[in-house]
Amino acid sequence: MGYDDDNVFAKILRDEMPSHRVYEDEQTLAFMDIMPVSKGHTLVIPKTKGENIFDLDAESLAAVIKTTKRVAEAIKKALEPSGVIVTQLNGAKAGQTVFHYHMHIIPVYEKAPFQPHANDLEDSEILASTAETIKQTLLQ
Ligand code: 5GP
Repeated sequence: MGYDDDNVFAKILRDEMPSHRVYEDEQTLAFMDIMPVSKGHTLVIPKTKGENIFDLDAESLAAVIKTTKRVAEAIKKALEPSGVIVTQLNGAKAGQTVFHYHMHIIPVYEKAPFQPHANDLEDSEILASTAETIKQTLLQ
């Protein structure tokens, strides 16, 4: 099959689909997951095309982890979770549902259970407000 240029994250990168962006640089983009498993669930993607870790060069992957650390630090500071999960899935059999490589940043809150993975659409205003909080913290 190969990389599909019309996958949702490719469309978000081209601004053909809306997203709540929190950070962008030459090589990466970070935005809110539209069906978050917890408040602040954020995705980091490379601008390079590739479905999974096996398709991408080390430089693109390094750029993703650099942005992931930066955004995860802002989430930790802004939302004060009890912990933060950083993870990514490779292949449908591993649970991957969008086939443009992405890293999940998932805050964990002791008293709030996770929502099921890729299940309920979050209210756009809540996503916008959480994105703004993270963005402001990144600027500090
Ligand atoms: P995966 O299962 O591939 O690791 O994760 C894909 C993630 O993308 C899921 O957490 C899902 O909620 C999220 N997602 C799916 N479609 C969209 C979309 O159109 N916009 C955004 N921002 N996130 C999406």
